[in-house]
Amino acid sequence: MEKIKMTTPLVEMDGDEMTRILWQQIKDEVILPFVDLKTEYYDLGLVHREETKDQVTIDAANANKKYGVAVKCATITPNAQRVEEYHLSQMWKSPNGTIRAILDGTVFRAPVMVRGIRPVVRTWQAPITIARHAFGDVYRAAEYRVPGAGKAELVFTAADGTVHRETINEFDGPGVLQGQFNKDSSIASFARSCFQYAVDTKQDLWFSTKDTISKKYDHTFKDIFQEIYDAEYKDKFEALGIEYFYTLIDDAVARVIRSKGGFIWACKNYDGDVMSDMVSTAFGSLAMMTSVLVSPDGNYEYEAAHGTVTRHYYKYLKGEETSTNPVATLFAWSGALRKRGELDGIEALGRYADALEKATIDTIESGTMTGDLCAMWEGDAPACKVTSLDFLRAIRARLEAALA
Ligand code: NAP
Ligand code: MG
Repeated sequence: MEKIKMTTPLVEMDGDEMTRILWQQIKDEVILPFVDLKTEYYDLGLVHREETKDQVTIDAANANKKYGVAVKCATITPNAQRVEEYHLSQMWKSPNGTIRAILDGTVFRAPVMVRGIRPVVRTWQAPITIARHAFGDVYRAAEYRVPGAGKAELVFTAADGTVHRETINEFDGPGVLQGQFNKDSSIASFARSCFQYAVDTKQDLWFSTKDTISKKYDHTFKDIFQEIYDAEYKDKFEALGIEYFYTLIDDAVARVIRSKGGFIWACKNYDGDVMSDMVSTAFGSLAMMTSVLVSPDGNYEYEAAHGTVTRHYYKYLKGEETSTNPVATLFAWSGALRKRGELDGIEALGRYADALEKATIDTIESGTMTGDLCAMWEGDAPACKVTSLDFLRAIRARLEAALA
């Protein structure tokens, strides 16, 4: 079979631990035999981040901006223990945080669904994608532990010196205070990423905040979304037959639980943090959650939602057999290759990505899966636990048959 040719390179960001092992296995077993893979390779493994004083992460993010599409392996975010383990000269920042700061995007997380692994919520038939605004609010707040009686005020000094002042509370004893912020520019780019992703994936977009209580803060989010929708996306949505609708977060929670799925739910930073864990748990497994960062100017970075699966890696180093689930990482590759094909007009790449995803889902549905999935399997076929490599080989066999 002739391999599929690519024109523009994919930005490849390698990573750490067990997912680094899976990364190579995925390429060897299910990509390189079929695609004449063209990538610009960046090693974001912690060893190389240390060697380059983290410059490699910045270079990779800039390459993502240049070429438009990247695929990223999970990486270690160093903490004190990692500084010791890897003899780091500094506690390098989270690569995802660095990349997000350069691309300025929104993260969309969606589960891969298979028959035989039922969501906890019985009505969910299609994936629910959570879009989380990854800037500001409680994550960038100033806080103060109020020691005793006193008056708390909100003070804003404008660039021209004008002062706005209002009382928050007259404390009669100890308490707590918090000052949050967000910026119109960040809210607008969040909105554009959400609308664009809805158009790309032809799904309805829901957005929810608590604007009835937060009449200025949350209401501004609601207004900015509506203005951008009316001015830039209304026609596109109508042409595709998809819907944008805003609702109060309480109402959204109730509707999501009763829904069939198949839409995007945009959430403010904190809501998205909490709700994405709720939704991914209810869909089954973190190992089946995909994630894509979409920037407002149309750059895409695909990855798995889970981490480097350290516990499995230590077993692997001891020579033990591991059955780590490669699905989310594999779907990061298929998502990135499909997008590359779309942008470059290479239809064969899109067909290959579809076939790869179908072969993966069919393999699981036929009963061949990794250990994490066996534990929640309710399908007809008896579940057969295999190693990551055998799982990928089973996918490859199906893929060869499908593409022959
Ligand atoms: P994790 O790597 O997601 O793993 C947590 C546990 O979830 C694993 O021990 C495993 O459970 C299960 N799991 C996750 N992915 C799996 C898979 N593909 N197949 C099978 N089981 C899977 O989270 P962590 O252990 O908290 O973090 C490890 C490292 O990853 C940290 O250094 C952290 O900084 C990094 N991290 C990176 C990213 C990223 O790059 N996007 C995201 C999160 C964390 P069992 O052990 O019970 O089998
Ligand atoms: Mg969380």
